[in-house]
Amino acid sequence: MVVTRFAPSPNGMLHLGHAWSAIIAHDLAKERGGRFLLRIEDIDGVRSKPELADEFRRDLEWLGLEWEEVPAQSTRLDSYQVAAKQLQDAGLLYPCACTRSEIAALQPRIGPEGLVYPGTCKGRRVDEGKQTVLRLDVEEAMARVGEIVWEDEIAGIAVADPRPFGDVVLVRKEGPASYHLAATLDDAADGVTLVTRGADLFTSTHIHRVLQELLQLPVPIWHHHQLLLDDTGEKLAKRRDSRSLADLRGAGVDGRQLADNLLCGNLPAGISLSE
Ligand code: GLU
Repeated sequence: MVVTRFAPSPNGMLHLGHAWSAIIAHDLAKERGGRFLLRIEDIDGVRSKPELADEFRRDLEWLGLEWEEVPAQSTRLDSYQVAAKQLQDAGLLYPCACTRSEIAALQPRIGPEGLVYPGTCKGRRVDEGKQTVLRLDVEEAMARVGEIVWEDEIAGIAVADPRPFGDVVLVRKEGPASYHLAATLDDAADGVTLVTRGADLFTSTHIHRVLQELLQLPVPIWHHHQLLLDDTGEKLAKRRDSRSLADLRGAGVDGRQLADNLLCGNLPAGISLSE
C-alpha cells in the first residue's frame, strides 16, 4: 500500500507552498488507495514553536485533507540516539567542535546546504568536554555502500552521491538528530513508501539513500514535486513573509476551492510553478 507524508516544521506559519506540498502528498496516496500521514518535525531547538502544530492541523482541515498523524519527532529522540550510536560504532561518525566562523575562515567550497565542511576534525582528538556535533565521514560511507541508486517518480533513477554536501552533521550539539538522520529514520519507522516533498530537497535524498543503506532501512520511492514561486521567481518561504494559510483562512478564503484551483493549475496572481 502506498504511504505518503507531509512533514512540516513548526518554526513558522505554513504558506501556499506547503499547501501545495500537502495536497500533492494527500492526493497521491488517495488516488492509489493508500495512506497519508502528518508528521510534525519539531526538533529544531529554539526555533520550534509547538503551538504552531495546531495551526497546521487547522490549515489541513481547511484545505479539505484527511490524514493520520504519527508521533512528532520530539517523542522519538531515543531512536535517533540508537541509530547514531550504530553509525558511530561502525566508525562512520566523528566529533567536530568547529564553529561556523572557524569553518568559514577555511574558505571552503559552497555546497547544496552552504559551506562544505573541509574535514578538519576528521581523525583528530577533540577535547573531552567540548560540545561537539557528530559528522558523517562521507568518503568512508561511500566506500562501505558502493554504487547505489534511488528512484524518483518524476526524475527517474539517480546514483546516490552525497559527496557535494561533504561530511554532513547527523547529530547536533544540543543532542537531537539533524534533519537528515531524523527524517530518514522516521520515514522508515512510519512505513512511508513514497516520500513526497519539494524539488528543493532533491539533492538531500542522496544523503538519505546512503543512510538507509548504512542502517539497513527499507528503501522508498521519492516524488520531488515542482515548487511554487513568487513574483520575483523565488520559491515561497516562511522567512520571506509569504502570506500564511492562517491569514487566508482568517480572511474567509475557501480552502477547498483553493486546493482545487492549485491542482488544476489555477494559481493565484503572482505565483508560478518552477521548471
Ligand atoms: N520538515 C521539513 C520542512 O519543513 C520537511 C522535510 C521533508 O519533507 O523531508 O522543510
